[in-house]
Amino acid sequence: MFDSMKSLALLRASQLVTLAGPKRPRVGQELSELGIIRDGGILIRDGKIESVGSSDEIEKKSKSADVVDLGGRLVLPGFVDAHTHLVFGGNRLDDFERRARGETYEQIAKAGGGIWSTVQKTRAASEEELFETAKKRADWFLRCGTTTIEAKSGYGLTLNDELKLLRVMRRLNDEISLEIVPTFLGAHAISRDMPADKYVDLVINEMLPRVAQEKLAEFCDVFCERGYFDIEQSRKILSAAKKLGLKARGHVDQLSNSGGAKLLAELGATTADHLEKTDEQGIAALAKANVQPVLLPGSVYALGLREYPRAREIISAGLAVVLATDFNPGSSPTPSMPMVLSLACTQMKMSPAEAITAATINAAYSLNRGDKIGSLESGKIANVAVFDCEDHRELAYWFGTPQTYSVYVRGERV
Ligand SMILES: [Zn+2]
Repeated sequence: MFDSMKSLALLRASQLVTLAGPKRPRVGQELSELGIIRDGGILIRDGKIESVGSSDEIEKKSKSADVVDLGGRLVLPGFVDAHTHLVFGGNRLDDFERRARGETYEQIAKAGGGIWSTVQKTRAASEEELFETAKKRADWFLRCGTTTIEAKSGYGLTLNDELKLLRVMRRLNDEISLEIVPTFLGAHAISRDMPADKYVDLVINEMLPRVAQEKLAEFCDVFCERGYFDIEQSRKILSAAKKLGLKARGHVDQLSNSGGAKLLAELGATTADHLEKTDEQGIAALAKANVQPVLLPGSVYALGLREYPRAREIISAGLAVVLATDFNPGSSPTPSMPMVLSLACTQMKMSPAEAITAATINAAYSLNRGDKIGSLESGKIANVAVFDCEDHRELAYWFGTPQTYSVYVRGERV
């Protein structure tokens, strides 16, 4: 009776890391519970996971299925990257080289670098050009074992250029395997074309209504920082977004402890991202309001800084921690979740298991997709990453080494 439906059995995984557990983001000790099945297998039918168990058990149920013997390799749910800036024009190679020479942020900005240079290149690029470069980068994510990403606009800073970025994401979602969850980040930087308050009005009165009307984003994000958007402006923008049905995320306390975490707690945001400078009060506020922290060690590393977010304190406070790449041309040009896992273990003292939970099931919940992706359990979408190693700890251990063996999205090998 299932002849018309395609089925596939993946057998002989050394460790099948299921992340099976409570139907909510994981906290405390739960972060270490990976639900590993040794010599595991998965039966996939019509793009969804039908059952998960020992290879022998799954083999018996797989009479009519195509069978793939994984030869004792490691299997995980596809990574979920909950913070990226996927679509932009150009690159920041000159900034990178200047920073390597020891030049300061101010010197680099004066030489025509910084975020504004990406805004200019993004405005100058056609929708087609942006689509082609983003498509190439989206493929990098898949090759690192990531099957879903959140992606933000924010390099347009005019109504039409922000819409252009969000439309590129929509088209990518229709045409490629990687799933993209769109976030509107019109408040990424103050436009140089007008005074700050006028720009905030533009975001609230013109951009947000269009984004909501065309259903181009699920979330609204703000860069809340000295010299960008202050607490009052951030509150205004995120409150307006909420009224239009967009959920809130925020870049907060990255360069200074400005009270951004507390603001996001007050607004009932879904996530608070960065948090390098957040103090105990900020962490306590996030815990009380059930806001998920998204930690981005790639940006600390790539900027050559030393101060990583305090993951241990954040975990001790009972927060459902998420790890993401912050993929962007300026401060974190990496699509690699295994690299982020390595940084989490070596620089933030998270265990390999905690890091994997933060990059899969907890990230899925932070994108309102915890019921569909982020773990290998029956009924979920069959997004699976296979790595050419045997133990889950090897992903963070052999840092800088490509270990992806194969990736399946909705049961199809990509
Ligand atoms: Zn970011």
